[in-house]
Amino acid sequence: MRCWLDSCPKVNRLAYLLLRYEMNVVLLGPPGSGKGTQAELMHERLGFVHYSTGDVFRDHIKRKTPVGYEVKEYVTSGRLVPDSVVIEVVNAFIAEHVGKPIVYDGFPRTIPQAEGFGRVLDGHGLKVDAVVLIDLADDEVIRRLTARRQCRKCKKIYNLTFRPSRKEGICDECGGELYQREDDKEETIRRRLDVYREQTEPLIKFYEDKFKLERIAGELGRDKVFEELKRILETGKE
Ligand SMILES: [Zn+2]
Repeated sequence: MRCWLDSCPKVNRLAYLLLRYEMNVVLLGPPGSGKGTQAELMHERLGFVHYSTGDVFRDHIKRKTPVGYEVKEYVTSGRLVPDSVVIEVVNAFIAEHVGKPIVYDGFPRTIPQAEGFGRVLDGHGLKVDAVVLIDLADDEVIRRLTARRQCRKCKKIYNLTFRPSRKEGICDECGGELYQREDDKEETIRRRLDVYREQTEPLIKFYEDKFKLERIAGELGRDKVFEELKRILETGKE
């Protein structure tokens, strides 16, 4: 397969710059804004390491590390993992990926986490290089997320608007039944949005006061949002 990077000299240059420099980029945005997808694109096309607290937690639990045991205890008892543990996890992650550009997907989530994160980066002689908010209006978040469907059998995710299955209600991969998860019902999404606004608005202010926070309209869609992201990263490096 031909690498996408090779076909575009400009992006090639960007990837080259990024791979040579440690860069810490924070992506913020409501659920459904596509920040996870953008972090994946940054990983595939620009060589970033993708940090997502949930994924890294699952990885620790799977590898049975001391932190993994600690996190598992909180998760199985239904308690929130304390910020101190979240910070410990991010610290270990940074130590593991020294010298590589990292994109933080939906982290930090709260001001104490942002402060702890700043101290951790400082300890590694690093800093936050860019904070990008992918914003999306509540109505659009609801439109996008209520269109999600998941396969009961293989868990593959579809979207009635962006990624429909070939046959309505049936999984392309395994023929399983597609259903709407409790998480993706409008009422649940509205509650998640309330929590997001409550936690993230102070965080946006925190980063606006400290750094330059860049905003991208999530309505632009996957490809245009990624173009904007690259432009921001490139400007940040020059
Ligand atoms: Zn399936």
